[in-house]
Amino acid sequence: MLELRGLSGGYDSLVVVHDLTLSIAPGSVTALLGPNGAGKTTTLRLMMGLLKPKSGEVWFEGQSIGNLSPQKRAALGICYIPEGRAIFPSLSVRDNLIVQAPADDVDGIERVVAAFPVLGNRLNQRAGTLSGGEQRMLGLARAYLQNPRLILVDEPSLGLAPIIINKIFDSLRELAATGVSLLVVEQYAQKAMALADEVYVMGKGQIQASGTPAEMRNHLDLLGTYYTSG
Ligand code: ATP
Repeated sequence: MLELRGLSGGYDSLVVVHDLTLSIAPGSVTALLGPNGAGKTTTLRLMMGLLKPKSGEVWFEGQSIGNLSPQKRAALGICYIPEGRAIFPSLSVRDNLIVQAPADDVDGIERVVAAFPVLGNRLNQRAGTLSGGEQRMLGLARAYLQNPRLILVDEPSLGLAPIIINKIFDSLRELAATGVSLLVVEQYAQKAMALADEVYVMGKGQIQASGTPAEMRNHLDLLGTYYTSG
């Protein structure tokens, strides 16, 4: 569905990720793991077109998209949820959803409430007053409303308590069950691996290993203590 072919890039003259080759299958969950500073967020920004590649290619559903703007990539069905909450704090939950929904999506709010029941009781509440976990749910719900084909999620668990992290991962699992592909960047390696069909491990701007979660569990030496977090 989405492929990186020998992709390198970064910030101005600073190349941060090198020669990345990665493939996301349709309807699958892919985990991108690695320590702080490995280049995971930079990879997502390159996928979304927020950074220009220095070399290499990005393909989406058989089309080279490396020169397309982020808006055009979004129109093709790629949705990027950056680290943090990705919401409008001063708007109500309902308005956060309405501004995201395509104009012809008449039952969008009902679909969201069915997929994210916790938001159903909060539709009139200002989004900035939701708990951290609820705000993250709202960020996911806003992505879900766009009917994306691929969601790129950066650290959905960041800064949340373990019990809330479980809920976020339940929501991600439910999203995946609707058939949308997910790429999840995570520090909580165990949780991401439990969700994933395919795992990539990055270090120092390069892919260091990849495989199914079962195969990657055999690479404990490579993953080291990082793997055991979460
Ligand atoms: P983390 O989990 O800490 O977010 P990461 O794997 O997502 O880590 P990146 O955020 O992609 O890593 O950062 C990779 C490298 O790029 C780091 O050395 C970082 O300092 C550098 N970097 C990130 N953003 C910028 C920027 N806007 N300008 C210059 N360098 C940057």
